[in-house]
Amino acid sequence: MNVPSRTQVAIIGAGPSGLLLGHLLHRAGIDNVILERRSAEYVLGRVRAGVLEQTTVDLLDEAGLGARMHREGLLHDGVELSFGGARHRIDFLGLTGKRVMVYGQTEVTHDLMDARRAFGGTALYEALDVTPHAFDSGAPRVTWRDAQGDHDLACDYIAGCDGYHGVSRASVAADAIATYERVYPFGWLGVLSDTPPVSPELIYSNHERGFALCSMRSSTRSRYYIQCSVDDHPAQWSDAAFWDELRRRLDPHAAETIETGPSVEKSVAPLRSFVAEPMRFGRLFLAGDAAHIVPPTGAKGLNLAVADVRYLAEALIEALRERSEAGIDHYSDRCLRRVWKAERFSWWFTSLTHKFPETGAIGRKLQRAELDYLVSSHAASTAMAENYVGLPF
Ligand SMILES: Cc1cc2nc3c(=O)[nH]c(=O)nc-3n(C[C@H](O)[C@H](O)[C@H](O)COP(=O)(O)OP(=O)(O)OC[C@H]3O[C@@H](n4cnc5c(N)ncnc54)[C@H](O)[C@@H]3O)c2cc1C
Repeated sequence: MNVPSRTQVAIIGAGPSGLLLGHLLHRAGIDNVILERRSAEYVLGRVRAGVLEQTTVDLLDEAGLGARMHREGLLHDGVELSFGGARHRIDFLGLTGKRVMVYGQTEVTHDLMDARRAFGGTALYEALDVTPHAFDSGAPRVTWRDAQGDHDLACDYIAGCDGYHGVSRASVAADAIATYERVYPFGWLGVLSDTPPVSPELIYSNHERGFALCSMRSSTRSRYYIQCSVDDHPAQWSDAAFWDELRRRLDPHAAETIETGPSVEKSVAPLRSFVAEPMRFGRLFLAGDAAHIVPPTGAKGLNLAVADVRYLAEALIEALRERSEAGIDHYSDRCLRRVWKAERFSWWFTSLTHKFPETGAIGRKLQRAELDYLVSSHAASTAMAENYVGLPF
């Protein structure tokens, strides 16, 4: 592939944020180049998010990316909360008129990669030592190296879509950025299996042994999680040990009827709340996990990334086509208002459903009282449903 030396927007990272931004800019006639340090196969092999808010579904539809999602995705009208040996349903559709779509991040990424190939967009994988330069000036650049040698890309703007461990946020001067972080004292052990889901909707379980989540990717592929120690390694957990522990944390009906099988993938994820402010530094913008992380309990990570990209695409299109900087001036504030609401919801839902050893017996009693209130109060159920399906823009 020819390596360009000039583009309008250089995008660092080919996760969902980078690929979607590239797609939206291309549709508006704006040239862009994506630089990704991993191979395309590696990016597609990562098992991550699975729940799309209605706003995310709408944006993918508007961008012409929704066809396979509507064929293969599963529309969910609610979720179930399991505690005290019984399950209680939160009816999203009845409470808010909205649903969520279960469609794996891997599938979203697949659709975005296919679309980029179809329009012939430049995406350079296995790009090493990607570095943004001079983003405080009017002439930013990005450099990297690959098997062909060293490269230098001049651009108008740089989008840092390179995730929590990326180079974009790390390139900003320490005194120009503030970060807020909470690391939770546990992780999630996740197992993917080619077995039908135990229940048609997600089950979030608060149990005295710890949290569990029954989720799915399709009608034949399930994704289950249990709260584990941050120090646990997937290899320590045999499939049998995982299924035994999951059954113990479910209500009797689910424990009895769950279909188990060999794990297709098994991994431990840490839980973290993190926000970097601001999200714009001259001509460098952060989007998605590069700027913020939520614990996965509220299913917000991917959805927040899509919301950032929506704002960033609008702002860059305005700047490059209409020569107006109003959008880019407001980018950070617009994103952060939504980000902090999602951070709050993800923190609240994590606090309500997990075992926090340091809060002791009173902590468990208070959780139980809040769960009882949540499932019996129309107002509380509505507040939960509104946040889960995604707040309006
Ligand atoms: C293990 C795990 C499980 C998760 N589960 C859920 C879930 O159940 N629900 C949910 O909503 N969210 C979940 N998330 C969060 C969700 O997957 C992310 O919010 C989403 O991937 C954000 O997309 P992104 O494109 O911003 O970042 P990423 O998906 O992280 O993509 C960033 C890309 O940038 C690339 N990159 C990094 N550094 C560089 C560099 N220096 N140069 C070039 N490229 C670089 C990376 O290789 C990657 O491809 C999970 C995340 C993880 C890590």
